Amino acid sequence: MVYIVVKMNGNGRTFIFGGTFKRKTVEKCKGCRSLQVLNTVSTKSKILLSNNLFFTINGLILKKKYTKWLFLTCFIIALTLYIRYRINDPCQSFGITCLCKLDTQSPELVLTFDDGPDSSITPSLLLLLEKLEVQAIFFVNGNKLELYPEIARRIVEKGHILANHSYQHEAMIFRTVRYIEKDLLKTDSLIRLAGQKDVPYYRPPYGKSFINLPRVLKKYGKKMVNWTIAAPAQYDIKLDKQQLVSETVKQLKPGAIILLHDGYPYQNRQAFLEAVEAIILHSRKRNFEFISLK
Ligand SMILES: [Zn+2]
Repeated sequence: MVYIVVKMNGNGRTFIFGGTFKRKTVEKCKGCRSLQVLNTVSTKSKILLSNNLFFTINGLILKKKYTKWLFLTCFIIALTLYIRYRINDPCQSFGITCLCKLDTQSPELVLTFDDGPDSSITPSLLLLLEKLEVQAIFFVNGNKLELYPEIARRIVEKGHILANHSYQHEAMIFRTVRYIEKDLLKTDSLIRLAGQKDVPYYRPPYGKSFINLPRVLKKYGKKMVNWTIAAPAQYDIKLDKQQLVSETVKQLKPGAIILLHDGYPYQNRQAFLEAVEAIILHSRKRNFEFISLK
């Protein structure tokens, strides 16, 4: 970059100008008449000017200057939006395949429960699933496993799968590799203590991941599993049972992975259990069957 301080002399032939521009910009100015060397700013940079050049060059400089900043701003905004979109999309991940739907056209569904185990819901939920003969995947948090190891053991004994959903449900987007690794291994060991040998599945808290988490999952041979159907109604502690059922069943399709929460502090846990039952029965009426992950 060349910096020049210049003033206009006046009568149309001799000019000294002020501006900030690159040597190449000046030298590339074509169609400029009567070029004169007016100043040498540095040993490398010769500034060429003429009668017409001031406006031409100044125009170019201004244009180039703003174009550059405009381009840079647009690029940063676009990059930010793209990264945000990728982070927020449960089916996207950086550098690892994320399973958000089974690759099948058969009427099969996977039922998953997050953020547990929970003493007020999970035991009743296990009884319900046993009655309906459905096997589910429980994406559990390590701190809840420490609180309710007995319930965790029961989940495994009933034939369901325990899967890693981080130790205490902190977002893993901007965590270091070391932090994620420690969190993952701690939760894995608690799952093993509950009686499950292998822990192949991982669901990131909030379903969001960025560069480091996929790197760690790849290193430990984990499969990232998110979801196809996540009814918004389930995030209200005053759960509207009908709404949860209708929002879920209207999205049913072959291979869908359904996300529900047994670790959510619902004011009416019975409403949640009834909603789960209604979802299962409605799905079966439409010939869907519930399968587990392989
Ligand atoms: Zn969660």
